[in-house]
Amino acid sequence: MKTAVIVALTLAGLIPAGGLLFFGKQSLTTVVVPPMEFIAENVVILVIDGPRYTETFGAENMKYIPNFRDSLLPQATFFEDFSNNGSTFTNAGHASITTGRYQKVENSGLEAPKYPSIFQYYMRQRKRNYNDAWIITSKGKLDILANSTYDGWTNQDMARTWCGPEGEGYGYGNDPYTMEITDSIIKNFHPRLLLVNLLEVDVNGHGKNWEGYIKGIQSTDQQALQLWNMIQSDPIYKDKTALFITNDHGRHCDGHKDGFVSHGGGCKCCRKISLVALGPDFKKGRVVSEPYELIDIAATAAEILGINMSLSKGRFMTDLVFDKE
Ligand SMILES: [Zn+2]
Ligand SMILES: [Zn+2]
Repeated sequence: MKTAVIVALTLAGLIPAGGLLFFGKQSLTTVVVPPMEFIAENVVILVIDGPRYTETFGAENMKYIPNFRDSLLPQATFFEDFSNNGSTFTNAGHASITTGRYQKVENSGLEAPKYPSIFQYYMRQRKRNYNDAWIITSKGKLDILANSTYDGWTNQDMARTWCGPEGEGYGYGNDPYTMEITDSIIKNFHPRLLLVNLLEVDVNGHGKNWEGYIKGIQSTDQQALQLWNMIQSDPIYKDKTALFITNDHGRHCDGHKDGFVSHGGGCKCCRKISLVALGPDFKKGRVVSEPYELIDIAATAAEILGINMSLSKGRFMTDLVFDKE
């Protein structure tokens, strides 16, 4: 909801068609172009940590994700060419989502992102109360997402966090409990901006456990629908909330290094991820083949929430709301 302000030179209060022509006396007039209006007042970002596209939307008949296939996609805009074009480690991938900037971030949770996040911008520009921004993650180390090392932003305007099994910023929790916490925080606080991370897919991948990895994809498929149902059954969130469901990274292609077990390089299977977007303003049942990338989520969420993220890159995903020419 950025308002474009055009300062135009006008003659006798009139901007001539075909451009600005100057004759004689000039005066400065401010022409305010109406902001893009959104119905959504809240943004929720769900990050399913580390599935490969070949086992999610790229699998035959999307066989491991029936809830996406049958329930969510018909109500969503789906981006089939969506990528992490930066570092494909967990903390850096999440930082790309929240800051709209690709950057290297130490992966064990000892380093905050280099740029301020959409949470910090929100709290600085639009805060109503300190529950407006929340970060809830199964991985404790992701509490770094609330902070930034950028000059003027460190320890400022931070989101509230529940990260890890006890919510204290270390260890690995379990996703069903993370979903319970999410349900409770939505019901009690109705954050304007919320990020949720689920870890089961990634942890089983690193554990070399193919069956557990597939089971994680099936569980997070259910949890994604569960989250959308939480939103749409809540009287304050219902029809006023945009949900972005994405990944921080994929995993190595089969035959490259240890395949599905690891990630973190630049192979195409580490880069290729997915984005599903649901909300009152977005097209339903649309498949977008235009390429977009991880940093575009922050740009788009900022536009919806009416905040100005001056340090972020990325672009507003116009395919969500506009018809093709
Ligand atoms: Zn990850
Ligand atoms: Zn790779």
